[in-house]
Amino acid sequence: MALLETSCSGMPGVIKAQGYHCSYCLNEDQRLFYTYFNHQFQKEITYCRVCIMMTWSTTETYYQPVAIPDAPEQLECHLDFALTAQQNYASRLIVEAVESGGRRLLHAVTGAGKTEMILKGIQTARRLGRNVAIVSPRVDVVKEVYLRMAAYFDADIDVLYEGQSLAYSSRFVICTVPQLYRYMHHFGLLIVDEVDAFPLPMDERLMRCVARAAAADGTMIYLTATPPRALRAAFEKHEVITLPARYHERPLPVPRFKYLSVKSILKGRLAARLERRHSGTLLVFFNDIQVMTAAAVTYQSFKPLTVFAADRSRHDKVEEIRAGKHRIVFTTTILERGFTLAGLDVWVVDSGSFTAECLIQMAGRVDRKREYYDGEVIFFHDGVTLSMQRAVKEIQTMNQTAKRRGWIK
Ligand SMILES: [Zn+2]
Repeated sequence: MALLETSCSGMPGVIKAQGYHCSYCLNEDQRLFYTYFNHQFQKEITYCRVCIMMTWSTTETYYQPVAIPDAPEQLECHLDFALTAQQNYASRLIVEAVESGGRRLLHAVTGAGKTEMILKGIQTARRLGRNVAIVSPRVDVVKEVYLRMAAYFDADIDVLYEGQSLAYSSRFVICTVPQLYRYMHHFGLLIVDEVDAFPLPMDERLMRCVARAAAADGTMIYLTATPPRALRAAFEKHEVITLPARYHERPLPVPRFKYLSVKSILKGRLAARLERRHSGTLLVFFNDIQVMTAAAVTYQSFKPLTVFAADRSRHDKVEEIRAGKHRIVFTTTILERGFTLAGLDVWVVDSGSFTAECLIQMAGRVDRKREYYDGEVIFFHDGVTLSMQRAVKEIQTMNQTAKRRGWIK
């Protein structure tokens, strides 16, 4: 069902019981409601500020769930390469989950080729007439997933993010989370990509929105390379599918530790190491933008490019990096996920200050392409921390498991 705005019947947008509750986006944070005198209604009304960009959910407006009839279809899948043994294994388990319902956490290492693992599951769901959604925390990922899905399937795919409207009938949707607010008990297969990348305060509401958008007997698949402990703990053991191998069947690069404090780095102690570099692109991650800026001054003779989250020209800069125009890039964690490029090396400054999940994602940028690149991952530190140890342990364990199962060479 889809939720349609109406003027008089259905459920009120904002309900006041013990405090306010938004029926559209499930917001219950009282600070995010606003009450004022409305002249049209000639009374005080309260509206929800969370979903204001999408709808006008108030104490005086209503939503009507509208049924969308099932429409089974046989989707052709154009795949011009064979799946790896691991991808076939995952694919089979996902199809089983689609047929039997329930939820799964796919713990797949960076570069495992997750997209290809879900194709058969999507085909199965559509054949059974179930609606499919792939949900991602970021608009750029939504666009990328759409391009790949559109290449694999001849299907009417709705792509939804802020400012985009429905083109088809919501049977195969790729969207950001807020777009899920439109739906109730609608999706028989709901895939949540990079579930650990959602902003933390959103977790609980996200889970409720996902649960409401999914059909009662629906299947939910959560994908992540780095499940935080709390997330992993929320799943039963049999619900977790571990996928330790990369699609190119080589092990994950294991980070090396190097003792070098931030202070020494700012004094120029990385210069010799930088001079020794002759090929490839180096990503140097910083946890602190001030340190990054200071380091850019220290190492200005190497002409590092700096990129950070609030950087207005970051999209252009990322394109330049992709085009191979910069050999040395100083960055905050914005390039931690999703960024792939041939010939990448990764250094992490003050690595003890990052979480293990973050360190695994950064290390996971290296050797992602099909052609082998003997890239290095170095964690600079001034004292090895638990998170550093956990990151390395996890990478080694994944490599061992992949080897044992015969999924890497
Ligand atoms: Zn709302």
